[in-house]
Amino acid sequence: MRTVVVGSGAGGLTTASTIRRYNRDMEIVVITREKYVAYSPCAIPYVIAGEIPSFQDIVMHTPEYYRENKNIEIVTESTVVDVDAEKRNVIYYDKEGNKKVLKYDYLVIATGGETFIPPIEGRNLEGVFKVKTIEDGMKIKEYAQSSKSATVVGAGAIGLEMAYGLRKLGLNVNVVEMAPQVLPRALDIDMGEIVLRYLKTLNIGVILGKPVNKILGDENNRVKGVVVGNKSYSCDMVVMATGVRPNIELAKRAGCEIGRWAIKVNSRMETSIPNIYAVGDCVETVDFITRQPTLSPFGSTAVRQGKVAGRNIAGIPAYFKPVLNAMVSKIGDMEIGSTGISELRAHQNRLDVITGKAKGLTRARYYPGGKPIYVKLIFDMDRTLIGCQIVGGERVAERIDAMSLGILKGVTCEELVNMEFSYAPPVSTVVDPIALAAEDAWDKFLELN
Ligand SMILES: Cc1cc2nc3c(=O)[nH]c(=O)nc-3n(C[C@H](O)[C@H](O)[C@H](O)COP(=O)(O)OP(=O)(O)OC[C@H]3O[C@@H](n4cnc5c(N)ncnc54)[C@H](O)[C@@H]3O)c2cc1C
Repeated sequence: MRTVVVGSGAGGLTTASTIRRYNRDMEIVVITREKYVAYSPCAIPYVIAGEIPSFQDIVMHTPEYYRENKNIEIVTESTVVDVDAEKRNVIYYDKEGNKKVLKYDYLVIATGGETFIPPIEGRNLEGVFKVKTIEDGMKIKEYAQSSKSATVVGAGAIGLEMAYGLRKLGLNVNVVEMAPQVLPRALDIDMGEIVLRYLKTLNIGVILGKPVNKILGDENNRVKGVVVGNKSYSCDMVVMATGVRPNIELAKRAGCEIGRWAIKVNSRMETSIPNIYAVGDCVETVDFITRQPTLSPFGSTAVRQGKVAGRNIAGIPAYFKPVLNAMVSKIGDMEIGSTGISELRAHQNRLDVITGKAKGLTRARYYPGGKPIYVKLIFDMDRTLIGCQIVGGERVAERIDAMSLGILKGVTCEELVNMEFSYAPPVSTVVDPIALAAEDAWDKFLELN
């Protein structure tokens, strides 16, 4: 029996390793366009910032490691161009350009996503970069060494992480975002304001509510600026952090059903075609709160989906559950996290909500080194937690994870008010800011009665 996996990102390699964990005999072949495999794209901004010394540090394993330790064959720099689902063949071009046909018993489509680059004039100039692969990161860092200023297009987590990285390298940085706030997918505007104020302290410029209309080039076709609204801003380079679109071409060629956003899969990660699975950024999943199809373009999701697909292929039943799209990011000294639905998105989905907010400290007031932390909780009218956003100096991720579990288990406002939080002065406060935010919401619920 042979499993062919297309794509060597988090989704593809996790599927391959999970199959091997439970099945010693399956032949496993991973085919990927990339030269480097098993690296962390999530770490690229932190290499740019110099917080991780080199790009080599974020490559966790080589193809040789997989061959020798896991008996998994990785075919690099090769592109799968077609799938014949009836004959169970994949057709690919290897790195020498030879056309090859490989039979599969199981196929896993883990083709990830592509950076969406809006059709802006000047997008092909020298000095315009996307940020997706490790090679993109290397090119950006090299170009930045001889640049003085940069524009980052998009104020999502990747855009802000990149802006911080380039600022730390000494460049003057502007971020341009079409939405009226930073982190529009993760945060409400009130929580985004806290991040915005912090970016100003880092001398990162932020232009909100306007798109980049044009990228300007000099006589050598190198970037010299951008036009936003009717104003131009000079810069030496542009980084497009304008979102990711699922890479679904191969799945379409195989005849897999495509849903509203991406490849449609069931909870076992099976596509509509027998023996073809799909995982990661190329699939759509179900939103836990709205129960609607959604994208979940996170490494954390790709890994969990890969484990589910791998177990099922190895004959161990496993199911992927609806997502909260929990995220966390760190920009400078600020940690930002969210899970579940935002107040804005709740309104867009015609859901009435009550919110509670609190500002607290990460350590007892008298204990040195404590940092501010801001919490926003979102409850439905049954007083059940459906969303949480936290911005603060430390321990944001742990709190977000606790709130994710709370949402999944249907925790109520009252339960959070009375929740038993651990306390010691160097690591927490006697009343956790989450309990304070829940109290704020609780008071609003009382007023309604
Ligand atoms: C800068 C950056 C920062 C990020 N930070 C975070 C973070 O902090 N936390 C988090 O959870 N997520 C983060 N992400 C997102 C995360 O990296 C992705 O969600 C994750 O990599 C998706 O994994 P995947 O396996 O689905 O796809 P990918 O990692 O995109 O892998 C897809 C693979 O398929 C290959 N491929 C595609 N088509 C073909 C073909 N036809 N033939 C052969 N090979 C093909 C591609 O070359 C690629 O190797 C970040 C992403 C970036 C770019």
